[in-house]
Amino acid sequence: MGEFKVPKSHPRYWSLYYRHKIEEALEAGILAKAGTMAHGRGEAFDYLIGERTIEPAERAMRAAVAKLLLAKHPVVSVNGNVAALVPKETIELAKVLDARLEINLFYRTEERVRAIEEALRKHDPDIEILGINPTKRIPNLESERGKVDEEGIWKADVIVVPLEDGDRTEALVAMGKFVITVDLNLLSRSARMADITIVDNIIRAYPRMIEIVEELREKSKEELEAILKGYDNEKTLSDVLIYIRDRLGDLAKEGIWRRREL
Ligand code: ATP
Ligand code: MG
Repeated sequence: MGEFKVPKSHPRYWSLYYRHKIEEALEAGILAKAGTMAHGRGEAFDYLIGERTIEPAERAMRAAVAKLLLAKHPVVSVNGNVAALVPKETIELAKVLDARLEINLFYRTEERVRAIEEALRKHDPDIEILGINPTKRIPNLESERGKVDEEGIWKADVIVVPLEDGDRTEALVAMGKFVITVDLNLLSRSARMADITIVDNIIRAYPRMIEIVEELREKSKEELEAILKGYDNEKTLSDVLIYIRDRLGDLAKEGIWRRREL
């Protein structure tokens, strides 16, 4: 894999930069081929929200962090796309939350688990990583898709499963887990099944969530519970739909032909 040579002045620099990360991850065996399609689907939805963190996502992130700070056994799950895009931020988020980190894959192979472990250890050689020898199974999912760590997702009360398959999200909810997802496709099954859905690009969401942990860390249990009580995921998803509808309506009125910025 060659180095990334696109000049910073390119109008789509960051998009190309993260595509390069995805290509590298594919070559390193971190990502399954299907992960590249998921990335493209995410990019398409990112255009619709203007490639920025919108207010309903900010609201969802605050509620998610409040829930994670209140959790007894919080777990942050890592898959190939996450390891490709935000390995450092994933480790940092788990650390500031005092959460366990678990590798959890839809297309689980031992080689991919090892490649992801290696990618994470590059950033922190001593980090605890669960999911390497999982002994438990999520009920109602066939073998490879259902494997989870007894000390991690199995025990967890609150889990962050970003860029996740909808069927697995639903199975985790059915197990009684409180599921937080990050998913740009708000129409996906995972987005619709999760308890809290953060409709944002994970490259923006994780750094922001780390900041929110610092903001909310000193809050009392009651204050955190109040944030959660005031949160409504149904309304968040509707607000994202309305945001996209209004934005597309405005763009249609203003016109987009030969416009450089949207
Ligand atoms: P379903 O949830 O309906 O099963 P799916 O088949 O799209 O949907 P996956 O491909 O496993 O499920 O999920 C990956 C999801 O992650 C996609 O919905 C995609 O839009 C989203 N996604 C991809 N890249 C990013 C990213 N960088 N940030 C946030 N979400 C992303
Ligand atoms: Mg999904």
